[in-house]
Amino acid sequence: MTDTVIPVVDIRDHRYRTTVPAVPARLEMPSGLLADTRGRPLRDLRISVTDRCNFRCVYCMPKDVFDKDYQFLPHSELLSFEEIERIVRIAIEHGVEKIRLTGGEPLLRKNIERLVEMLAKLTTRDGQPLDLTLTTNASLLARKAQSLKDAGLTRVSVSLDALDDAVFKRMNDVDFSVHDVLAGIETAQRVGLAPLKVNMVVQKGVNDDQIVPLAGHFKGTGIILRFIEFMDVGASNGWNMASVVPSAEVIQRIDAAFPLDSLQPNYLGETAERWRYRDGSGEIGVISSVTQAFCHDCTRARLSTEGKLYLCLFATQGYDLRALLRDGRSDLEISNALAAIWRQRSDRYSELRADPETQAARAARKIEMSYIGG
Ligand code: SAM
Ligand code: SF4
Ligand code: SF4
Repeated sequence: MTDTVIPVVDIRDHRYRTTVPAVPARLEMPSGLLADTRGRPLRDLRISVTDRCNFRCVYCMPKDVFDKDYQFLPHSELLSFEEIERIVRIAIEHGVEKIRLTGGEPLLRKNIERLVEMLAKLTTRDGQPLDLTLTTNASLLARKAQSLKDAGLTRVSVSLDALDDAVFKRMNDVDFSVHDVLAGIETAQRVGLAPLKVNMVVQKGVNDDQIVPLAGHFKGTGIILRFIEFMDVGASNGWNMASVVPSAEVIQRIDAAFPLDSLQPNYLGETAERWRYRDGSGEIGVISSVTQAFCHDCTRARLSTEGKLYLCLFATQGYDLRALLRDGRSDLEISNALAAIWRQRSDRYSELRADPETQAARAARKIEMSYIGG
């Protein structure tokens, strides 16, 4: 296959620090009981399958940074599907149960259904099916929902930041209409990709007037709407605390229109706090990464498009697993390198966000969400 983009300089080399992980001299079989320095197991792996996207959401890939000169990764740099499957198999032996395909826009990756099919065949350590899901902007969902379902995908999360077309178009910045996202959601529901979740990133003064309309739209449909606090990911979205609408305020506003009761989490490490409509017409969630950090039970690792492992969404350094894969290392060697990386993990950025030292340490190297995978 020919490369579509040949970068003259890969700016990632300058921005993102990576190391090739050391393979321990004494190799051990994985026990599934891996824990980091704070006792957190490895349960979720988010995999970015492309750093490209056909949207230019102002809070994620603003046009002035991700313009026609932006150097995306050439195809040869991406992990192949076989390489991704191999890392997933190794991670499962350490306890991973949940895989989320993301990006960039994952449905832009050619033949993504083939990867879904390969991953859907894998099972957890105790023989259960993997929780295999995908996050998408839904631009290609109406076209691909059936083939994804046939390939073995169980559910999807769709991002939708407004119900009002003008607000949504201002946010995606490529003139994509709400109608087309809703068409993708309907198709996904019809083919049985369930439970379907819709994620809204809330930015004060940009789309916070869409909180109640979106809640009203999805109430009673079986779709779970989740409100995400705008985060300081990357270096290009101009984040500041004043642009965050705290989840508590989101809940207050919805409760005033449609009364709510709180619900228990489904499992340890669930990122969303759950609420149900008192009239029984479904549930919503809030993800309060800024105002109520949930690092204490964060069980997630992220694999970038080119095979670097990141231990936190806000990490300043990645571990080059691809180097091990392409260096002829055995599964057991890679497994031990992965275990050594996870055991020394101490990340808890959201809990330390307010600390000036934490801010200073990562100011120069903020990794973009589209690269690391949201
Ligand atoms: N393109 C796909 C999509 O938009 O669903 C998948 C990748 S996107 C990076 C994954 C999720 O991250 C989306 O729901 C998006 O809204 C969210 N996101 C991106 N930048 C964010 C930010 N600064 N704060 C909070 N969420 C953000
Ligand atoms: Fe693309 Fe998703 Fe980022 Fe929007 S949030 S620019 S759709 S990767
Ligand atoms: Fe996990 Fe890092 Fe987010 Fe904390 S800040 S919840 S450690 S990804």
